Amino acid sequence: MNRKNSETLYSEAKNYFPGGVSSPVRAFKSVGGTPLFIKKGDGAYVWDEDDNQFIDFCCSWGPLILGHNNAGIREAIIEAVHNGTSFGTPTRFENRLGKLLIENNRFIEKMRFVSSGTEAVMSAIRLARGYTGKSKILKFEGCYHGHVDSLLVKAGSGLVTFGVSTSAGIPEAFAKETLVLPLNDLDAVEKLIQETDDLACVIIEPVPANNGLLLQTKEYLEGLRTLCTKYNVLLIFDEVISGFRVGFEGAAGYYNIQPDIVTYGKIIGGGMPVGAYAASNELMSCVAPEGPVYQAGTLSGNPVAMSAGYAAAAQLIESGFYENMAAKTQRFIVKIDDYCKAKGYEVTFPTIGSIFWIAFTHDTIRTAEQIDPKSMGKFKVLHAELLERGIYLGPSGYEVGFVSAAHTEEILDESARIMCEAMDVVFL
Ligand SMILES: *Cc1c(COP(=O)(O)O)cnc(C)c1O
Repeated sequence: MNRKNSETLYSEAKNYFPGGVSSPVRAFKSVGGTPLFIKKGDGAYVWDEDDNQFIDFCCSWGPLILGHNNAGIREAIIEAVHNGTSFGTPTRFENRLGKLLIENNRFIEKMRFVSSGTEAVMSAIRLARGYTGKSKILKFEGCYHGHVDSLLVKAGSGLVTFGVSTSAGIPEAFAKETLVLPLNDLDAVEKLIQETDDLACVIIEPVPANNGLLLQTKEYLEGLRTLCTKYNVLLIFDEVISGFRVGFEGAAGYYNIQPDIVTYGKIIGGGMPVGAYAASNELMSCVAPEGPVYQAGTLSGNPVAMSAGYAAAAQLIESGFYENMAAKTQRFIVKIDDYCKAKGYEVTFPTIGSIFWIAFTHDTIRTAEQIDPKSMGKFKVLHAELLERGIYLGPSGYEVGFVSAAHTEEILDESARIMCEAMDVVFL
């Protein structure tokens, strides 16, 4: 496979951007080699600058649940752009998207649009602190909540592969306000809550999917809800990845658990930069201009992004959408899993909805600490073999894969066949 153009572009990019990229994990550091420069996507496929074609299971890290270049989203964006890209005023497009999202989600009453997942989480934390008048927050090891100062403590995503548990540039005084516990241990949560009188909130990815896929039990998540209610602490579901992915109501709907604040990102903008945080009327009335918690954004709720989000949501809400996504993902994964089992390969495929992870172990993994860093050597081989065979996975073994609505059964059958072939090389 020729990658000459990507290589040339990458060496040029290194003159302009740290590591040659606008976001760290894109640099291929953990799998080695040169990142592919993608010039085009359509349906389940992307093409790089050397005209290689790939079946894409990264899907822009999750947002593209309808595949690349979705016709409905494309047309909505073009139509909106004809009238200008941003006014810094309210528009009817925010109303339309807000109404659709809120009327079809039992867990939220009011929301605020922002421009990224990080911004949504940062604002949700501020709201929790503003509402409760308390400072400390509790997060879980391996949960990634964006690059917010107070949450870059034992986080996942790009940070895992860099082998650092926190970032430089975060004052110790900030980090001290963040308490961290392992997932899957309710007793530890209760003990910590009892010992901490200044705790504003507990924040969790209800579907932890940024450090492998650390699926928690429903009992655990319900237990968190019970403890938060009992001790008067707010529960934040960071649904930037699970929102509109495991169901239209996200993980809150999937597990039927009412969080106090929910954050969204990724899918909510239909591929444009949008995030949001949402809660009850009472909580959201603390946000400026209604209340004292300040939060603003020059390009927030801009008409192009709102139109893209609406065009996406209108397709996601069609009946059977999520059942179909889960069924075809299951069918795809079972094919690969059956093959690997028959061959005795030490690998499993945790799955929820249309998210899957490749775990090089037979154990059920529920905490970050259970992941053996040495197993990432196998992922590196798999990643390279798949690229050669025309499948694009996110370039890190800690990242999950996403199936989109554009991945037809034929494409998934072909992908399963290629995956099995590549596994043969991994376990050679
Ligand atoms: C991606 C992600 C974020 C950060 O979102 P950005 O849009 O990258 O800032 C936060 N939380 C979770 C759970 C995510 O998956």
